[in-house]
Amino acid sequence: QADLAMYKAKDAGRNCLYFFDPAMQQALSARAQMESELRVALQQEQLLLYYQPQVDAAGVLTGAEALVRWQHPQRGLVAPAEFIPVAEASGLILPLGSWVLQQACKQLSVWAKTPGLSDLSISVNISAHQFKQPGFADEVLALVKHFQLVPQRLKLELTESLLIDDMAFSIERMRFLKQQGVGFALDDFGTGYSSLAYIKQLPLDQLKIDRCFIDGLPEDPNDAAITRIIISLANELNLWVVAEGVETEAQRDFLQAIQCPGYQGYWFGRPVPAAEFRQQALNRKQE
Ligand code: C2E
Ligand code: MG
Ligand code: MG
Ligand code: MG
Repeated sequence: QADLAMYKAKDAGRNCLYFFDPAMQQALSARAQMESELRVALQQEQLLLYYQPQVDAAGVLTGAEALVRWQHPQRGLVAPAEFIPVAEASGLILPLGSWVLQQACKQLSVWAKTPGLSDLSISVNISAHQFKQPGFADEVLALVKHFQLVPQRLKLELTESLLIDDMAFSIERMRFLKQQGVGFALDDFGTGYSSLAYIKQLPLDQLKIDRCFIDGLPEDPNDAAITRIIISLANELNLWVVAEGVETEAQRDFLQAIQCPGYQGYWFGRPVPAAEFRQQALNRKQE
C-alpha cells in the first residue's frame, strides 16, 4: 500500500513530491509502530495468558481457554483483537503463537500436579500461518513430551477458513496430531463457510458455537433454531459442543434445556490471569 501511494505520488506530476493521504499515512505508521512494539513485547515478555473457565452442563469445571493479552508499558492491557491482526500481517504470529503454545503447555503441566485441578484441559487458539508451518506438528508433540502432558488435555482451536483453505493438508495434519492424542476444536462455528460435508471429514473433537448465535438466546427464534441444530448435529457426529459467550442465566437455562454439553462465557467467569483462575477453580471445587 505504501509503495502504491508512492507510485501515485510520482505519477501525479514532477512538481508533486508528496501525495500521501494523511489518514492513510497515519494508519500505516500506527501499524508499523505497533509492529515494532510487538517485537519488543515478545523479547521483553510483555505478553501474558488469561484463562477463561469452561464448564459442563452440571456446572463442573472442565478446563480453560488460553487467551493472550499484551501488558503494554504505556497503553495498559491490550486485547488480542488489536494486535493479533498486526502479528499475522507481519509474521510475528509465529514467535507469538509458539510462545502462547509453550506457555499454555507449561500451565497445563502445573495444573496436572495441582490437586483439584489435575484433570482440567487447556484450549489454545492456533492461527492459520502457525498451523501451516512445516514444523508445527513436531513443535506440539515436543511440548507434550517435554511437559509430560496427557495429550488429550490439550485442545487446539482452529477456524473454518483456516481448514477449508487446504482441506487435504488440514486433514492430514490433524490426523497425525490426533493419532498422538491431541484434541481439536472448531472455533467460531457457524460464522465461516461451513459445509457439513467437510466437517464430517475432519478429525474434530468439538465445535464451539460462535457467540453471535448465543447473543440472541432465548428470544430470537433464528438463534434458537441455529443453536438447536448445531447441538443435534454435533450429537450425531459424536462431537462435544461448547457454547461461547454465555452471559446470562436465561441463556444458560435455554442451552441446558436443549442439552448443550459445554459452556464458556462471562456468566461462568471472565478470562483471568493464571493465579486468579487457580483460586477461582479451587473455590468452585469446594462449593
Ligand atoms: P475466540 O477464540 O473466539 O475467544 C473468545 C473471545 O470471546 C475472547 O475474547 C473472550 O474473552 C470473549 N468472551 C468470552 N466470553 C464472553 C462473553 O460472555 N461475552 C463476550 N462479549 N465475550 C466473551 P478475547 O480474549 O478478546 O480474544 C478475541 C480473539 O482473539 C479470540 O477469539 C481469538 O480468535 C483471538 N486470540 C486470543 N488469544 C489468541 C492466541 O493466543 N492466538 C491466536 N492466534 N489468537 C488468539
Ligand atoms: Mg478460541
Ligand atoms: Mg470463538
Ligand atoms: Mg462472534
